Formats: sequence, C-alpha cells, structure tokens
Amino acid sequence: MGSIDTPTITENGSTQSHAAAPAADGDQKPHASANGAPVEMPPESEATKRRRASMLPLEVGTRVMCRWRDAKYHPVKVIERRKVPYGGANDYEYYVHYTEFNRRLDEWVKLEQLDLDSVETVVDEKVEDKVTSLKMTRHQKRKIDETHVEVGHEELDAASLREHEEFTKVKNIATIELGRYEIETWYFSPFPPEYSDCLKLYFCEFCLNFMKRKEQLQRHMRKCDLKHPPGDEIYRSGTLSMFEVDGKKNKVYGQNLCYLAKLFLDHKTLYYDVDLFLFYVLCECDDRGCHMVGYFSKEKHSEESYNLACILTLPPYQRKGYGKFLIAFSYELSKKEGKVGTPERPLSDLGLLSYRGYWTRVLLDILKKHKGNISIKELSDMTAIKAEDILTTLQSLDLIQYRKGQHVICADPKLLDRHLKAAGRGGLEVDVSKLIWTPYKEQS
Ligand SMILES: [Zn+2]
Repeated sequence: MGSIDTPTITENGSTQSHAAAPAADGDQKPHASANGAPVEMPPESEATKRRRASMLPLEVGTRVMCRWRDAKYHPVKVIERRKVPYGGANDYEYYVHYTEFNRRLDEWVKLEQLDLDSVETVVDEKVEDKVTSLKMTRHQKRKIDETHVEVGHEELDAASLREHEEFTKVKNIATIELGRYEIETWYFSPFPPEYSDCLKLYFCEFCLNFMKRKEQLQRHMRKCDLKHPPGDEIYRSGTLSMFEVDGKKNKVYGQNLCYLAKLFLDHKTLYYDVDLFLFYVLCECDDRGCHMVGYFSKEKHSEESYNLACILTLPPYQRKGYGKFLIAFSYELSKKEGKVGTPERPLSDLGLLSYRGYWTRVLLDILKKHKGNISIKELSDMTAIKAEDILTTLQSLDLIQYRKGQHVICADPKLLDRHLKAAGRGGLEVDVSKLIWTPYKEQS
C-alpha cells in the first residue's frame, strides 16, 4: 500500500507533475479554442435545447466528455452531484472522475464544462474493474471492517467493495495547513462527521491534532508543548531524525496520522486499531522543532513477515529521496530483528516501482562485489529482503535461469552496470551507526 512521491510519476510510470495533463491531442472539441474560450457557434435549434434540457440533471454514473484545465475534453464518469445554491431545479454541479487519469484528479465541475452532446445514454452500474480485482489479505479485510464496511465472508464481495468505493468517492477536505505548508489533498479521508463540511483543516504539525479554524490552531499552538512526534528518537543524522511512535501508547497521535495520511493515499484502508502498529516518523529538524516529512507504519507482530504496512512522503517533501530512505530504513530494522521482511500487499504500482528500485540497487551492488557463487538464501540473509522478492527482482532483470531443477544467478558485469544505472540513485543513505534501537517487545 505504498504511495511514494506519487505526483512525480503517472500511473503508466512516466515521470510527470500530477498537475500536468497527459497529452491527448486527438480529443479537442471543435467548438472550443485552444485556450478554452468558446468559439462562435451557430445558434442552437429549439430541438437541441429541448433535448439537452431533458437530460438534466445528469444521473450519477453518466459518462460524458468534460473540459479540463488543459482546455481539452476528456471522458469522465459522474461520481456525485450537488445542487447549486440559489440555482434552478436542474442546476447542479458534478463531481467527476477522469477515466484516463488517476483518482487524485477527481473534482467538482460546472455544467458548462460538460459536453452534453457526448452523453452516453447507458448509465454504467458496474463496479470498477480495478476494485473487483483487488485481492485483499485477511488483515486488510479486518481494517476495512473497522471502517464500517460489512465483511461477512472470506472474500469481500462486490457489494462491500462498492460500498467502500461509495464511501470514499468524493474528496472532502481540499487543503490542509501543516507547519509552514498549505497542501492540496489528493483523496478522501474519513474524518469524523463534524468535519465533513470543512474544505480546509488546520493541523498542529507536532501532535497532529486538527482544527476547523486558523484561530483555533493559533490558540492550540500557544498551549501545545510538543516540538517533535511523541515517542522515542531512534535515529539522528545531521538534521534528519526518526521517531518511533507506539500506537498503543499514543493512540490519538496514531489516529490523527492515519487521517492525515489517507488524504494522500488512495487505497489505504483506515484503521482505528492503531494499537497493533508502530509508526516511524521521519523529521527534518531545526530550531523550531522536528517537522514531519513522511512516515511508514509497521505491525508489531506480522504473521506474513511484513516489515512495512503504509508509507508516505508528504507532498512538499517529495522528490528528495525520502521515500527511498524510508524503504531502506524498514529493512535496517528487519536486519536488527534478524528477520526477513516484505512490504504489505497490494503494493500500488508506484510503491512497487520504488521497491523494485531499492531491491535492484541493493542486490546488484552485492552481486557486483561478490566473487564466486551466491545463493538467494545468502542474499536474503545479507539484506533482510524476502527470498520471493529477490527471485522476482532478478527474474525481471533477466539475471536468473532455471537449470537442472534450480535457480542460478547469472551476473554478467556489463548487464549489472546497465541495470544499476537504470535503477537510479539510492538517495539519502541510512547511516546504520546512527540507529539506536531495540526491536519491539510486548510489555506485560
Ligand atoms: Zn499540538
């Protein structure tokens, strides 16, 4: 469920700012000029006017073309609608999902932006394919269960998934203030109902309490005596610190962090059961305090040897190598525990990309230096990377062959160099000598 530095990469993996439109040149409508201003058109016939009026208001589920911020028309699906204040009976605004784009670009649009001539008459009632294909682990089902979606069977049925989608469809909080940043949010987060009418929330950057009004935050900041996340500082190198927060000892902080994180993670399922998790909160420190840049969470006890549940770098701090740092850090903890680890599944495509990069760099560095044979088991012991992840990584790089009933690593030095170059730089290094930590033990 990783989502790391997501705005830099589109769903197909190409690098791009999330505000930039994918190039879609063929779909410009003839009656809109390139800058979006309407071009002079012949007057509408009475019949056309009547036909259009009969469609309104559009039903939820309608598919239609919508003029986007690039002044071009793109296919959308209507997710929700709401009445325009003081408008007529059929005056609605529409919350739309651009079917070509990531859900973080979902937004409210005005009727003028929709091309009614392109309305598809068949309303799509099917659950989105990607939802039905989601395979959930028992653990994730439990988490969804706690967000009040009924789960009665071993498999989440389509209706439950749909309910989950319904519940998470519309972005509620549009922006947040956190420390010195105002940040635009990407996804729905299930804040308590009393916050459902808020467009903006004000967070205390240290205890992560959130408020509806700026004055409330100012009052809070005069009283709040935290200058860093609660819990133990387990790593400090230069201006960078990592804090370990026990969800059981700091329940409210853990919950606040989950509400905040969900604003930037699509398929993260929010759990209130933060007791079972440790949160590793990465901070940039200065004389005003330790400012959170991102975090990952980890189950205290994982039957599936997960060493990371959720991972996030906050948008203002992305593209600085913090996501890679967090991944590397999770493996350093596993090494100290003497266990192998793997991130919880499903990984987002972007999460998988980051992990593939990390695995490639770590494994190929070893293969480059190593003389003689080395087995996957030995690689796993050295790196704390799970054997399956090593196998799939090396297979995807064509560095492994199946001979006489076993996998053989074939490491041609030139090929290794080429792959290492493609995997990019590792970013910020974790300096293990600065990590002061003992693995979690349940206190009786
Ligand atoms: Zn506070």
